[in-house]
Amino acid sequence: MADTLLVRALKGKPKTLNLCNKKLNKVPRAIGKLDCVLHLQLRGNKLKDLPNELSHLFQLQILNLGNNELEDLPEVLEYLTMLEKLHLFNNQLQNLSPKVLTNMRNLTFLNLNSNQLKTFPPEICRLTSLQHLSVDYNKLTELPVEICALLRLEEFRAAGNQLTSLPLEFGFLVNLEKLYLQKNKIRELPESLGKCYKLRVIDIAANELRIFPTELGDLPLKEMYCEENPLLQHIPVHSVQEEEVLSLKEITARYVMKELKDRHPEKRWSYLRRAIRHYPQIKDMLAQASKCSVCGESFLNTWLECVRFVDAKSDLHLTNITGLVPIRALLCSYKCFNSAGHQYYGVAFP
Ligand SMILES: [Zn+2]
Repeated sequence: MADTLLVRALKGKPKTLNLCNKKLNKVPRAIGKLDCVLHLQLRGNKLKDLPNELSHLFQLQILNLGNNELEDLPEVLEYLTMLEKLHLFNNQLQNLSPKVLTNMRNLTFLNLNSNQLKTFPPEICRLTSLQHLSVDYNKLTELPVEICALLRLEEFRAAGNQLTSLPLEFGFLVNLEKLYLQKNKIRELPESLGKCYKLRVIDIAANELRIFPTELGDLPLKEMYCEENPLLQHIPVHSVQEEEVLSLKEITARYVMKELKDRHPEKRWSYLRRAIRHYPQIKDMLAQASKCSVCGESFLNTWLECVRFVDAKSDLHLTNITGLVPIRALLCSYKCFNSAGHQYYGVAFP
């Protein structure tokens, strides 16, 4: 039947060819003659590979290979350099061939849902046009840092995997608008998530999250799903902590950062400001500093992880949930913690 369809197609110059649900084990080689096709549907067959002749469809923009039996990315895909949308959902993919990924520079949409992927190869970063990446219901345990180089990514879906964290550099994805991570084992979201300044939707339901990153409140979120997480509860217990003695390294770092921040004209040419230029490693180290939520001063390593509870509706302007959301706050010292007039709570474990 597929052959009849192909013969018919060969008589015209079709832009679209639909070979869905035809029980095909193989794609007929004659397909190579249809070099005018832009949209090819091969969904719902029994394909384990694709013929080399497919490489003649050099104009192909949309290819649907969902619901087949592919165990590897067919090598011929590397020649389909005009491909913009690729559906591979519900196959048996265990790996993504780096060679194929490297040539998919025009791909904007990739659906890999319901496969057997355990990780992405670093070459995922070659998909520089990618805007939508969906990898729901695979076996991912981690994401490579290279995924953070997909700077055009607007939507990322990885629900139903085994992820325990996201790369620390996740905030490089500045165009991300929708993030779906429900049903994983994520314990912590990276602080850099606060840099995804277009993020409107986040679904982190059914994970192992206790607290949200410091800058969550600065994101333009409209919807957030966070049910079924062991989120910190707002049950205040009074406690006063003794002030601690900081390490010499920490004291020095705080002193240097305070001096460098001082914009007073007399300090502009200070010895420290001139000297630091010759120590790039120290500059890098100081770039990792955090800011105290109470006094606003910078600190390097020693901090107190606290929590503030913000109202989902009035503070975060979320439309889909109500109640309090725990957001991380870092304090520089017990002195700041013990001071009056702030809304930060220490975290107690039962
Ligand atoms: Zn402080």
